[in-house]
Amino acid sequence: AADSAADSGADAGRPAYRNARLPVDQRVDDLLSRMTLDEKLGQMTQAERSALTPDRSDLAALGLGSVLSGGGSAPEENTPKGWADMYDGFQRTALTSRLGIPMIYGVDAVHGHGNVRGATVFPHHIGLGATRDPGLVRRIGRATAREVAGTGIDWNFAPCLCVARNDRWGRTYESYGENPALPAAMTTEISGLQHRLGRSGVLATAKHYIGDGGTTGGVDQGDTELSERELRAVHLPPFKKAVERGAGSVMVSFSSWNGKKLHGHRYLVTDVLKKELGFGGFVVSDWAGIDQIDGEEGFTGAEVRRAVNAGIDMVMVPHDYRKFLTLLRGEVDAGRIPVSRIDDANRRILAKKFELGLFERPFTDRSYTGDIGSPRHRALAREAVGASQVLLKNDGGVLPLKKDGKLFVAGKNADDIGNQSGGWTISWQGESGAITPGTTILDGIRAQTGPAGTVTYDREGDGVDGSYDAAVAVVGETPYAEGEGDRPGGMGLDEEDLATLKKLKASGVPVAVVLVSGRPLDIAGRLPGWDALLASWLPGTEGDGVSDVLFGDRRPTGKLPVTWMRDADQLPINAGDGQRPLFPYGYGLTYPRS
Ligand code: BGC
Repeated sequence: AADSAADSGADAGRPAYRNARLPVDQRVDDLLSRMTLDEKLGQMTQAERSALTPDRSDLAALGLGSVLSGGGSAPEENTPKGWADMYDGFQRTALTSRLGIPMIYGVDAVHGHGNVRGATVFPHHIGLGATRDPGLVRRIGRATAREVAGTGIDWNFAPCLCVARNDRWGRTYESYGENPALPAAMTTEISGLQHRLGRSGVLATAKHYIGDGGTTGGVDQGDTELSERELRAVHLPPFKKAVERGAGSVMVSFSSWNGKKLHGHRYLVTDVLKKELGFGGFVVSDWAGIDQIDGEEGFTGAEVRRAVNAGIDMVMVPHDYRKFLTLLRGEVDAGRIPVSRIDDANRRILAKKFELGLFERPFTDRSYTGDIGSPRHRALAREAVGASQVLLKNDGGVLPLKKDGKLFVAGKNADDIGNQSGGWTISWQGESGAITPGTTILDGIRAQTGPAGTVTYDREGDGVDGSYDAAVAVVGETPYAEGEGDRPGGMGLDEEDLATLKKLKASGVPVAVVLVSGRPLDIAGRLPGWDALLASWLPGTEGDGVSDVLFGDRRPTGKLPVTWMRDADQLPINAGDGQRPLFPYGYGLTYPRS
């Protein structure tokens, strides 16, 4: 009886939306009925952290629904505590608004919480695709969520479910692979991230809807020129699965479909995603994505209208939030955006805030802070690194290396945490060097060498001679992220790598090449003398997962998540397109059982 009295409305004088025992729908209805139009428009607005600091007052004054840290936008003190204190500061301000609606805070934790110094950095998706292990990816999702929750953050702009169809694209490494079934299977990341939502779990984002990995020429933010049948066959399956798994949000792609920007695409966003697939969460734009709808710089009222009417529920503005609110208000007042659309967007956003428990537990639960970079998570990352290694060649059995052998290690990626982690690590584009604690591949090799073994390291390969049992060359790419990573020209190794490899080859010692890269490189006939080749992708902070495989403590089991070109002129190359690759999709060797 007491329950039904509470359920009928106010609970001890508190409004129904504050009653955690009521169903979410009822709380949303109640809250919505109390909100002014401006408060509703505020909920649809997401501002960048740096645009709101040091004076956070706009957050409450305008009732902004969300704050984000775009790539590299971290608090002064980039530590777990620095993040949690920053989050709590924003939340405290948000709660002073008239109705006390909490903000939701989003970050890109796309391979672990790579924003935070000391967090566990897992392999980028391309490597996880090679594991073919959705259960492992689910566990990584859970671990990532705990580290994110430990900094207060509620919302992760992950997973990227792009189906990468052209290795020239600089975001290929954010893809689980070229075959739509692979990203679809790995949507277990969503289940992992959202497990125990609002406690140790955070809201996931399936991105970027739709066709981001299918642009002509592999151009980032380009045009995906495909028939509707092809678009649906190649790029829709992962999103269908994401919706089935209850993804809380979906981010729209910067790209176009046959010349029309997704950010203004009502058919794909509303008719297909929301109506046909039944997506019940909210749709968020990409960073300033509405600016691109008309091809001119900045945004206009017409672009705001097209985006919102297309079905975008929250706009990542990210800086000009005042202008955005003014234009949005103008469009609604003029009747060009129906109030029913505004209400629908609010229902979707507020429902997730209630599901996250933000009204009951708005501040950081510091009991998860200790999970950040914990030994348990690092062990999981090491396991994932080991499982992601793809052995492509092993002539003369140079691998596994002998622990008591005389080893020479070289290459620009042998002893560099930044290089082995790639983009979206500490900063947006990533960076070479000791940017965060971790184990380099060289550290791993050294630690696993036996008592009689020796390891000599020279980055450029100087001093190598024929007296070694084997040389390991760790070469490949250096960090990049969106925009910067496209390679319209050559896809080969850089001059430094080629020079290093040449020295090793000249010494006559057997050479194992470890390729640290975000995608296949053009190596056929261009790698001077390699006896073994191991694709390590972008392993992250736990380089000992690579050495586990090099020494045979773990047999390689990874399978190629993408087709490996024989020549860059073949790009795009994908399974079933009739071209002859160097290594086919699904390829991967192992060691004989001893
Ligand atoms: C990227 C998204 C990312 C967003 C926020 C954009 O530039 O395309 O993947 O989630 O920035 O950092």
